[in-house]
Amino acid sequence: RQTGLRALAGRPARTRDGIEIRLQANLELPEDIELAKANGALGVGLYRTEFLYMNRADLPDEEEHLANYSAMLADLDGRPITIRTLDLGVDKHSEALATAHSNVSNPALGLRAIRLCLKEPALFEPQLRAILRASALGPVRLMLPLVTSVHELDRALAIIADLKRQLDREGLDYDDDLPIGAMIEVPAAALTARAIAQRMDFLSIGTNDLIQYTLAIDRLDDAVNDLFDPAHPAILRLIRLTIEAGRAFDIPVGMCGEMAGDPRFTRLLLGMGLREFSMQPGALLDIKEILLESDAGELARHVDQLFDQLDVANPNALLEVLNAVPS
Ligand code: PEP
Ligand code: MG
Repeated sequence: RQTGLRALAGRPARTRDGIEIRLQANLELPEDIELAKANGALGVGLYRTEFLYMNRADLPDEEEHLANYSAMLADLDGRPITIRTLDLGVDKHSEALATAHSNVSNPALGLRAIRLCLKEPALFEPQLRAILRASALGPVRLMLPLVTSVHELDRALAIIADLKRQLDREGLDYDDDLPIGAMIEVPAAALTARAIAQRMDFLSIGTNDLIQYTLAIDRLDDAVNDLFDPAHPAILRLIRLTIEAGRAFDIPVGMCGEMAGDPRFTRLLLGMGLREFSMQPGALLDIKEILLESDAGELARHVDQLFDQLDVANPNALLEVLNAVPS
């Protein structure tokens, strides 16, 4: 089946009614790029940089970050890469930073991701400088994880502005228009998505954490795995709010959580207005196949009806109806 699908790799992901969808890849390790390219990814929608920090006793410096990012850009041959700043947390550890995560009862609610980075400039700044410098070499977007309030964004933006001045003084190049975006993966961020959209160049919905934090379900706990439901009405509302905020401020909104690569939700997300999907490279062709057979306008009308019934009907049953819509 994958061999048959392979023929789709070079085709644009255009819906039956002519809407172009951007299909991009999530990379956890640099070598994942090969499958991403083979499967026709238009770029990298989420480059998880945690691997640079894992299984070692020291921390990567600016040059190591830069060497990795420039090698990725060369490999991507003009396709854009969205580099996410460090998102260490419960599920992603670093020995060099072990103290930051020990002895807390709720590490998922603790000092992780942008919170940790804002608290430890020595950790944050070498990576930001490397991302800025990489932006002189090819199309780079910078993405901030686990944003909860606009104060965090304002602080991060101020640090980035300072680092640009620093690079100016040192005579080092960067792209002054490098797009800076936020992940929407905490309910508070989705509920205030307009304030975030106002400050950012793009948004990307991280459903793995968004579902964990909204439904109070540990994403790593098998005992509650069956309750981890991307179609829960609360999740659908938060996704809707985020897409609307992007539209209101005319910035792109993508999704890079697992939901984006799950064929059960492709037509729902398309009907909700999502136009950028980023997923593990192995899912790209399956999702493209569905998009090619779908009518975005028709699905949008069905999704509006689904939203009207969200409080009175089982969304999973509504989803079945949606997936059965002839196109
Ligand atoms: C997410 O939370 O949906 C996401 C894409 O980030 P990660 O899985 O790396 O936490
Ligand atoms: Mg996340």
